[in-house]
Amino acid sequence: AEEALRQSQKMEAVGQLTGGIAHDFNNLLTGVIGSLDLIQTRVAQGRTGDIGRYIDAAMSSANRAAALTHRLLAFSSRQPLDPKPVDANALVASMEELFRRTARETIRVELRAGQDLWLPLCDPNQLENALLNLVINARDAMPDGGAIAIETANVELDHAYAATQQDVKPGQYVALSVSDTGSGMSDDVLARVFEPFFTTKPIGQGTGLGLSMVYGFVRQSGGHVRITSGIGQGTTVKIFLPRYLGDAVPRDLSATNALATRP
Ligand code: ADP
Repeated sequence: AEEALRQSQKMEAVGQLTGGIAHDFNNLLTGVIGSLDLIQTRVAQGRTGDIGRYIDAAMSSANRAAALTHRLLAFSSRQPLDPKPVDANALVASMEELFRRTARETIRVELRAGQDLWLPLCDPNQLENALLNLVINARDAMPDGGAIAIETANVELDHAYAATQQDVKPGQYVALSVSDTGSGMSDDVLARVFEPFFTTKPIGQGTGLGLSMVYGFVRQSGGHVRITSGIGQGTTVKIFLPRYLGDAVPRDLSATNALATRP
């Protein structure tokens, strides 16, 4: 199944995010207020012997509420994008070691660099984050080992294709995909993967922010994301970033390793 996330779904996701956060935060606040209320009553009655545990309970709820807002802030105040023409093959190659360390020994990591790759215009740091998130997800989907392929390719999307897709503009894109031979996803999971905080991983292992951050970065860069997945069939996440169509790479950029140099 192919999942095309529509703008309306994105808005729905934002609504669910704020609604969900408000709900959780309110629950925690209720805990703090309840404990403080008990403390106040005890103090008024002069029975302060056991208020320690109510103070602990209030503290614990308040700390969890603080952690919740920190996660939210980390999500919403992403560093501003700093788009540049990027040599995506060089960037991927420079991350190979990190990918291998992220995957376990039972997982094979393969890079497939597209020939004469165009330069995508995007923030290279955010692209690195996105790829790392995708590799982590691929690893987590393969507890018994398997293979991860990271592939780059030039893709031209014509008007006819774009007309069938709400979120796609025709044009030239650089596609970067991360494929795994893991568990795959059911259609129900697939329909929700871009929702902030949606996770099927055990508490403490997943934040549910990985793919929503990937989605946010790619959309802000003028691209789009496609996921192909099926239970038992593995998963491919492909991000399309618009090709840089300027004349030349600015000189101050060409010095950096991750960025392209042109003759
Ligand atoms: P997290 O990884 O913290 O759970 P994500 O937003 O990155 O958050 O992913 C959300 C969910 O999407 C995961 O919990 C998992 O169920 C599913 N998912 C993402 N990538 C894959 C993959 N490569 N294979 C199978 N399931 C995946």
